[in-house]
Amino acid sequence: MTIHNLGDENSILNQFISEIRDSQIQKDAMRFRRNIERIGEVLGYEFSRTLSYSSKNVETPLGVKSMDLIQDQVVICSILRAGLPLHQGLLNYFDTAENGFISAFRKHEDNKDDFEVIVNYFAAPSLEGKILVLSDPMLATGKTLENVLKALKEHGKPKQIHIVSVIGSKQGIDFVEKIFPEQTHLWIAAIDPELNARGYILPGIGDAGDLAYGEKL
Ligand code: URA
Repeated sequence: MTIHNLGDENSILNQFISEIRDSQIQKDAMRFRRNIERIGEVLGYEFSRTLSYSSKNVETPLGVKSMDLIQDQVVICSILRAGLPLHQGLLNYFDTAENGFISAFRKHEDNKDDFEVIVNYFAAPSLEGKILVLSDPMLATGKTLENVLKALKEHGKPKQIHIVSVIGSKQGIDFVEKIFPEQTHLWIAAIDPELNARGYILPGIGDAGDLAYGEKL
């Protein structure tokens, strides 16, 4: 897997990351969602450089210009519900992308720290020969992506897989690297060192789904 940690370099991206981390600023759910969306736009722009392009003549009012345009068909598959603003950010740039949605939740037995990831809704087009973009904002343990990879198997073999994530843990990234094909790319805005006992990224941001859409029971 090729890891592109875009937060490693100085750019405006780190302003968006610092705002979603900040315990005061992140309380504004609309701003939180918009920041995740903006991160999706930046990561999407960056991975667009690796796609296949072919030239096409574009007629302007005054002449013709040959332009290199994306040839690949992109499918963006997002993990509900925290993946929604990241999905929107990617879709803002890849406006002809196809879309897939997967619901995955952590099932804690008797309120213990240990959990299993349950995938119970999956709607996606054929992935055969296409560019699969998996949008999962918090790459914590990597168990969600493991289950998503299994669920996607029956939808055909993508040409290439790009995982787009906002923050990942070192441990989760190491795990995902072992189970995804070697040609997979990971586009990520920050990598944090640790997970707590309940599988939350430290220092991280907290619960991305709750911050974007409110607390659940
Ligand atoms: N999901 C989140 O929303 N936050 C984490 O830190 C880990 C998983």
